[in-house]
Formats: sequence, structure tokens, C-alpha cells
Amino acid sequence: MTDTIDCVVIGAGVVGLAVARACARQGWETVLVEAENAIGTGTSSRNSEVIHAGIYYARDSLKARLCVEGKRKLYAYCEEKGVAYRRCGKLIVATGESQLDALRAIRAAAAANGVDDLAWLTREEALAKEPALDCVAALESPSTGIVDSHGLMLALQGDFEAAGGMIAFCSPVVGGAVRAGQPILLEVGGAEPTQLLATRVVNSAGLYAQQVAQTLRGIRAASILPWRYAKGNYYSLAGAAPFSRLVYPVPEPGGLGVHLTLDLGGQARFGPDVEWIDAIDYTVDPRRAEHFYAAIRNYWPALPDGALLPGYAGIRPKLAQSGDFVIQDAGEHGANGLVNLYGIESPGLTASLAIADEVVERLR
Ligand SMILES: Cc1cc2nc3c(=O)[nH]c(=O)nc-3n(C[C@H](O)[C@H](O)[C@H](O)COP(=O)(O)OP(=O)(O)OC[C@H]3O[C@@H](n4cnc5c(N)ncnc54)[C@H](O)[C@@H]3O)c2cc1C
Repeated sequence: MTDTIDCVVIGAGVVGLAVARACARQGWETVLVEAENAIGTGTSSRNSEVIHAGIYYARDSLKARLCVEGKRKLYAYCEEKGVAYRRCGKLIVATGESQLDALRAIRAAAAANGVDDLAWLTREEALAKEPALDCVAALESPSTGIVDSHGLMLALQGDFEAAGGMIAFCSPVVGGAVRAGQPILLEVGGAEPTQLLATRVVNSAGLYAQQVAQTLRGIRAASILPWRYAKGNYYSLAGAAPFSRLVYPVPEPGGLGVHLTLDLGGQARFGPDVEWIDAIDYTVDPRRAEHFYAAIRNYWPALPDGALLPGYAGIRPKLAQSGDFVIQDAGEHGANGLVNLYGIESPGLTASLAIADEVVERLR
């Protein structure tokens, strides 16, 4: 058994890395334990890499607050560290008169979240910006952008290590215990199983956060929130991108609708859709592309037949009873020094630096 460590963070995705960096910069001796042999092999490398503006989230939700704060912090961080990003902007398009009320509601929700830079575009104004588009009106979000998520994670890892932090790869947390008045015990598996004692533990295991919590003896079982997985499939576009901004329809239940995003190389992809699944499986079924064609042609009628190729998939760690991020401390689960992060789906990449600051506040 080792000495007690100030802080252990479980999971080296973008959120775990941001949290570990923030903890190490508090002067806390911090170890980041990761089940895989590299950073960012989970949801953090299976997303759209969009810096979200903070438009859609319920007023006063953690998602709304941490997305808007996180966006500001992320742009500044990318600038400071030379992480590649582009403030390309995005259009949310109404493709029929019946969607205009929804578009107005989106603008009002955004304003309530402090996103007051959305511009209403008429059809003519929207087509002047994106001639390949078809719509009756659009909202333009100038603060939406895209980021090199792997470059971001590498920068966070560099900062973390420069602040004295250490990453243990191939080190899955397989159990542990919380006991009143004592440090938290973590049992780490892998080739060389070990035990760690820590004053503070942050469970940032993404899709597995609840399973990790279930292995910690002594936390309130009722605090472990039921979860569901919603897979998002992407299809890439063969050929040149038709738009220079991101293009989104009005949202659909569970997701943002079949939208177009761009990577930093200018390549277009469509998705993610929403496919409820029971087990983690990243295979993309080519047959699901069929419903993409009709959805995309609502706003891009010139989409050629056969242009969509199966891309990749990511899985959203949804909470069964909440649409918000949940950052749990002792008030909920009863264990001093432990923070559980549940439901860290989109906009978790955008919000990562703000989530990290929030976690540090809870631990202080
Ligand atoms: C389809 C899709 C699209 C998205 N698009 C966007 C977007 O455009 N913009 C945006 O802001 N957000 C987006 N998101 C959300 C964003 O990707 C996530 O919120 C973010 O990546 C979550 O990071 P994380 O570190 O919490 O989780 P992860 O990246 O999943 O990291 C968790 C880590 O924990 C490790 N782990 C698991 N179990 C254990 C264990 N027992 N012991 C040790 N380590 C363990 C895993 O190996 C993994 O490395 C999207 C999400 C999805 C699914």
C-alpha cells in the first residue's frame, strides 16, 4: 500500500484530462488512471469536434452554464497553446414555414443562456452565404467552431505532466471503498494490480462512470443514476464539402437532427443520428444511411445518390431521468472527497475546461 495521494482522477478522456490538469495546478499530487494504453480512446475521439455556442440547453442547467463558460475558456486555451481550431460559425435552418416557431424558440433559449449573438437570416440572406442551401429562414451562430480534439487532449496532458501529474495507463479501476474519516481506497487491475489511497477521487470514466461507482463499497447505491446508451452514427461525404459553415436542421428528440459538420481539413460528414443500444458497439450499419438522404435533402437538395459512406460512431452516456450533466459530491453519494461525473455527453468537449473548474470548486 502506498502513501495517500492528494487526488486520483479515473479516465483520461478530454474531461478527465482537463480535471486532472486543474487538480495538479491546485498543487495537489495527482494521478490519472486510465484503463486503456492511450489518452482519449473513448467518446473523446468519437464526436463531432464542435465548439458549441450553448444554444439549446435548458435555462439554468449545468449544460447551459458550463457550455457557455467552457466555450470561452476553450477558445482562449486553443489560442494560448496553439491547438488547431476554426470559428467557422453555424446555420440552424428551418426548411418549412411550420419550423419557424421552433427557430424563434431556439433564439429565445439561446438568449436566456447568454448566447445573444445569433442572427436571424431570411432565405435570401442564408443563400447568399451558402448557395447550396435550401431553407425558408436560418439562425446564424458566429461563435460556433470546430477544434482538433486530439490536439486539445495532448495540450491538456502536457500541462498536467508539467504541473507534476502522472498518468498510469492500462490501469482500470476495478473496485474500492469509501470509509468515514479515512482516505478513499481504489483497487486498480491490469497486469500489475495495485491499491491506491487518495484524499480526493474524481470518477470521469465516461460510458463506464456508473459501473465504476458500483464497485466502490460504501457509497449510497441510490445515488448511482440509471443510464442509457444512445449511439450516434456518422456518414462521410465523398467529394468536396458543399458548405463552409456547419449546417443543422431544427433539433429532434434525443439529438440535434442529421446535421453537417466539417473537420479542420474541410471534409464534410453527416450525423450523428440517434440509435438506442444496450451494449457498446461502434459498428456503423450502412443501411442506416437511407434515412440520412431524405433528411439531408431537406436542406441540401443536390446531395448525389451514393455520396454517403459509413464513417464512425460515438456513444452518448445518457441519463435515464435527466437531460443534464450531473456532478455529484458527498451531498448526494455520502463520500467526502469523491466526485462522480455522470451523463457527460455533448457538449462535454466544449465544456471540459469549465467542468474541470467546477470539479475543483467541489473538491476544495
Ligand atoms: C456522437 C457524439 C458526438 C459528440 N459531439 C460533440 C461535439 O461536437 N462537441 C462537444 O462539445 N461534445 C460532443 N460530444 C460529447 C463529448 O465527446 C463528450 O462529452 C466527452 O468526450 C466526454 O469525455 P470524457 O472524458 O467524459 O469521456 P471519455 O472520452 O469516454 O473518457 C472516459 C475514459 O475513461 C476510461 N475508463 C473507463 N472505465 C475506466 C476504469 N474502470 N478505470 C480507468 N479508466 C476507465 C476510458 O477508457 C476512457 O478513456 C459528443 C458525444 C458523442 C457521443
